[in-house]
Amino acid sequence: MKASGELPFWLETSWLHMQQMLVQQRLPHGLVLSGLPGLGKRQLAETLAARLLCHTPESKQQACGRCKSCLLRQAGSHPDLQRLQPEAEGKAIVVDMVRKLQPWLAATAQQGGAKVVLIEPANELNANAANALLKNLEEPGQETYFILLHHWPRPLLATIRSRCQVETIQPPTADQVQPWLLQQEPAAKPEDLLQVQQMAHGAPLLALQYLRDEAPTLRHQILVDLTAILRNQSSVSEVAERWVKAPVPQVLDWWLQWLQDLIRLQQTNDTQQVVNQDVVKLLQAVARKAEIQAVFGLYDATLQALDSISQRRNINQQLLLEKLLYSWYQLI
Ligand SMILES: [Zn+2]
Repeated sequence: MKASGELPFWLETSWLHMQQMLVQQRLPHGLVLSGLPGLGKRQLAETLAARLLCHTPESKQQACGRCKSCLLRQAGSHPDLQRLQPEAEGKAIVVDMVRKLQPWLAATAQQGGAKVVLIEPANELNANAANALLKNLEEPGQETYFILLHHWPRPLLATIRSRCQVETIQPPTADQVQPWLLQQEPAAKPEDLLQVQQMAHGAPLLALQYLRDEAPTLRHQILVDLTAILRNQSSVSEVAERWVKAPVPQVLDWWLQWLQDLIRLQQTNDTQQVVNQDVVKLLQAVARKAEIQAVFGLYDATLQALDSISQRRNINQQLLLEKLLYSWYQLI
């Protein structure tokens, strides 16, 4: 079976698996695509939705791109495709949205084929919305498919997960990501390729975005700031004021990676264990003086802060950052 030419290479295994299920007529009515942000889960979901809705798929595997159904979908007006998503990024998918979908779910497909519901991100379904959806997942009706995108590390409600089949999308290996990145951005510096790949936990599309946003420069500034605080060259509030203008979740995610390295270094005293080798000197200086309990405390607090910010809870980010940075200052 041929994989889709349009999908990036690391999605081909999953796509082949879905094609097999389609051909064998055992594609589940509830399918969760689960994995890190930046792996192309949405692209995979759209490819599958296109195939399900197409009237004349090419050799049963690929949407044709030319039939009426494909044209309607491309125009964003396919009557048998529904998208369940929050009103704004970071908000929940609420029960009213699921209720509004019910008459559509009860009706037959207008184009005479399948009906597809794309739910993104499925981890933003709140408990009431999820409960309202359970019956639909259990008795989906003929030719009705739910495709749910689950972004790590946020959890997916167990009630939803248990009623679906989960397809986990794995990142490709570092050896594979770097040539791919270079293909997309031929002028990129080799050291940046390695760095963005680490910064994105190996997820190629996020790494590419980091490369294009010049995230290594921002990351470098974050490192300079952390060093300056320890040397009493910058104040905690000054740094927090700068950071609050940057994409805070990214900043905290990188900081967490360094704290992980710091913990590894303290536990093993082996610099080879440090993933972010460009930070070794700073980490060694901190590791010599800091209490490991305090480092664990800061790690947990940073993780919690990242979670609150990702969920857009009503919080004062400046204050939160000041608190974390003060704990950092106190480490040595
Ligand atoms: Zn078609």
